[in-house]
Amino acid sequence: MSALQIAMTGFAEHVQLRKRGLLNFIGVLAASLIVGTALPWLMFFGGPYVDTLAPVYEFLGIKTPGMHVLLFPTAMVGVAVICLVVEAIGLGYRDSTLFLVIEGDNRSVRSDLFYLFLRVSGVATLVTFVMTLGTALHVDAMTALGLDFSLIHGTHPVVQFFVLVLAITFCNYWTHRLLHSRWFFELHKVHHSAEHLGVLLPFRAHPLDHYLARVYTTASLSLFGIEPSVLIAWMGINAFYQSMVHSKIDWPKWTEYIVVTPALHRIHHSTEPRHFNKNMSILTIWDKLFGTYHPPEDVPGYGLDGVDRDNFNTDHYLSEVFLCFARWIGLKRNT
Ligand SMILES: [Zn+2]
Ligand SMILES: [Zn+2]
Repeated sequence: MSALQIAMTGFAEHVQLRKRGLLNFIGVLAASLIVGTALPWLMFFGGPYVDTLAPVYEFLGIKTPGMHVLLFPTAMVGVAVICLVVEAIGLGYRDSTLFLVIEGDNRSVRSDLFYLFLRVSGVATLVTFVMTLGTALHVDAMTALGLDFSLIHGTHPVVQFFVLVLAITFCNYWTHRLLHSRWFFELHKVHHSAEHLGVLLPFRAHPLDHYLARVYTTASLSLFGIEPSVLIAWMGINAFYQSMVHSKIDWPKWTEYIVVTPALHRIHHSTEPRHFNKNMSILTIWDKLFGTYHPPEDVPGYGLDGVDRDNFNTDHYLSEVFLCFARWIGLKRNT
């Protein structure tokens, strides 16, 4: 039997025993799609155009919801499902995230599913507007339109792609370092609180953490005048990359010279203190250039320690997000 057939057999047998697990999972995906499509319309009638890709649309001169509101939720659900299947084939069904999703007994994976809903449905974007008292809306407009220098507009798409990759990965590296500083790590703990590393982990981040990525992506788009097709290509590749870099499937050794691989990213999530603040980038070059590279080695475990550990994976999903924010702005002590 091929790896695909073995994975499918394992999945079919498991689902017979855990029908409820499958239904829950389908429910989360369906709710993410329905809310993700409806929210931009609902919000638009009473207030701002809330869409995770709104700054991109603003740059393109699209100011109202339309068929394009389907793009983000369907693409994200598609990426999640494809990566779950690829991981189940590569690792074997019993060791995959899909197994834990259907089984439903892993708190960390249950939490990942909540963050998938939060992110894909666009509720995370709404939460960002609430937490920033609406200022995020103005920052979006300023980065989309105020930085419109279109420096390489009209050049070959391949040139645009490489410039975009360098700009975004550079911004991603320094934003990630900022998130690891004492001023922002409280927010970034959401991502580092994961105790299972798998393909759903990129969805697990605080809404403001995701928002920072949105700002530098929009800034790169408008600064360089990148074509929408190039941006969509990058976003698609990056979504798959972010999922697969959190899987336990190892990549060929030579890829480490170009990108941070799962073996390198495991160091980033490690509980071993000498691994803290290492391998922060997407392209290995930034970690090597700025002194945060650490070669792959065995990792004792993943997640946070002590009191931080108790603040996450609690199954009190939304309150976790707001309590994390309250600790960050100093409204709540870390007890
Ligand atoms: Zn990090
Ligand atoms: Zn990670």
